[in-house]
Amino acid sequence: MKEKILFTLYSLIFGILNSQNIKPEDTEIWDPEPKIVSPGASFRDAPSDAIVLFSGLNLNKWVHKNGEPARWDVKDGYFTVKPGSGSILSKDFFGSCQLHVEFMSPIDIEGDGQNRGNSGIYLMDNIEPGDGYEVQVLDSYNNRTYSNGQAGSIYKQHIPLVNASKKPGEWQTYDIIFKAPVFNENGEVKSPAYVTIFHNGVLIQNNSEIQGYIEHIGYPKYEAHPPKLPIKLQDHGNLVSYRNIWVREL
Ligand code: MG
Repeated sequence: MKEKILFTLYSLIFGILNSQNIKPEDTEIWDPEPKIVSPGASFRDAPSDAIVLFSGLNLNKWVHKNGEPARWDVKDGYFTVKPGSGSILSKDFFGSCQLHVEFMSPIDIEGDGQNRGNSGIYLMDNIEPGDGYEVQVLDSYNNRTYSNGQAGSIYKQHIPLVNASKKPGEWQTYDIIFKAPVFNENGEVKSPAYVTIFHNGVLIQNNSEIQGYIEHIGYPKYEAHPPKLPIKLQDHGNLVSYRNIWVREL
């Protein structure tokens, strides 16, 4: 009985399709053809269409907020926050993007909570009066703090799904897929920002909706801003190191 119903159904559908003369190629889409990108040797390496913001040599692609060249310390293919010198911003501006960053918490463990290995990756920084959207960088290996402020949180907005932190002194990766917010002409949010993050290859933010620019005290809110802005690395007074930073515009 079941087979008979199925067969009738099949015949009916086949009949309809046939009567419309739909051929397999009618549902093939050939245009546009995705452009060819050569991937890196591993997922850590920049693909051919990436903009490399730090390859190991210098901080030529970064400045301090006042426009002066970035003065953080570069050696052995990585660079380290220079406490008190101020955060650094990419000279290039970005909106929606795929961003790869490697970071290392200081091997000499000092402080706890928010005072241990604190830095941050700010997407779309330099929003007045706000400060962009922060992906928290923190030493969260055996270091409890508020969950929406630990490594991989969208600071004060989204708790990471899991804590995939490695030990201080070990290199870690963030692979961030960021969708920039869109604003109407009157400044209202047309579409909020979304972010997906892999921490050391582990999914920790799954298309999380960003509620506005970061607020340390109070609640996040949106303020209309240009479609592209710098990426910022935060000087929070701790000796966090970075290497191999590249970005693909989406
Ligand atoms: Mg921070």
